Amino acid sequence: MTKQEEIQKLKDEKDAVILAHYYVRPEVQEIADYVGDSYFLSKKAVGLPQRTIVFCGVSFMGESAKLLNPSKTVLMPDAEADCPMAHMVVRETIEKARAQYEDLAVVCYINSTAEIKSWSDVCVTSANAVQIVRNLPNQNILFIPDRNLAHYVAEQVPEKQFVLNEGYCPIHENMRAAEIQKLKKQHPSARVLAHPECSQEVLALADYIGSTSGIIQYAEESLDKEFIIGTESGVQYALQRARRDAVFYFPETEPVCTDMKRITLDKIIEVMKHGGNEVCMDNGQADEAAKQTLTKMLELAK
Ligand code: SF4
Repeated sequence: MTKQEEIQKLKDEKDAVILAHYYVRPEVQEIADYVGDSYFLSKKAVGLPQRTIVFCGVSFMGESAKLLNPSKTVLMPDAEADCPMAHMVVRETIEKARAQYEDLAVVCYINSTAEIKSWSDVCVTSANAVQIVRNLPNQNILFIPDRNLAHYVAEQVPEKQFVLNEGYCPIHENMRAAEIQKLKKQHPSARVLAHPECSQEVLALADYIGSTSGIIQYAEESLDKEFIIGTESGVQYALQRARRDAVFYFPETEPVCTDMKRITLDKIIEVMKHGGNEVCMDNGQADEAAKQTLTKMLELAK
């Protein structure tokens, strides 16, 4: 039996569904029931009929799935797969801003721990941040943890005042504008599609800025045949499936999230067989507050 067949058999036996992020290895995306970005997966996690969710992604994604589905078993193939940015804000930053601005809304990128979510008013993803922030009644916004996404949202919503935090995604932050410029010179007709977690210098070179699913959709609908991609290279699998006739170029210093790449077929089989790495939340006040930020996001993004 191949690993793929074994996973299929385990899915049936254990009444399990596999969710995978676009940044995991191609062979993992291939066996997943649903592949998407954080927004798609957080919506998808709600109301799935299976008893067990195997989440092929980093720990904040498993936490979100568990918060939204407390009665389900959520398993992480690798308990060490974590997003460094998800921890990049301290409580004092929030307390200081709340003391300074009476009408402050603390807007938390979904790439954050459940604890950080519990300190916040509403969650957002890169796909819905602009829409949600624009529609909030608050004039002052503390956007955590990602300063690059915060800066991008602030540009799109100039009528509001933003307080930024110094968090960042190391993978997107390390992308160099010089490497994108070099690719543009080599492929002058290529369109540049970039994720808002990239630096302002990289975003200034982009023809389109959007979430990972936005980038895939743009490429799918475009008449162009060459694209320079400013996001994690795991997205190449979905891009190539969507546009077999197109060519996708990535920066020379390949943007690879090593945490996402920790998920392997062997680890999926292991947790499905033995049920390890279960996400456990205590359902206390903090978890309830974190859950509310997620459900508020799902409501506001409708
Ligand atoms: S790509 Fe960046 S934001 Fe996404 S999980 Fe990896 S470190 Fe976190």
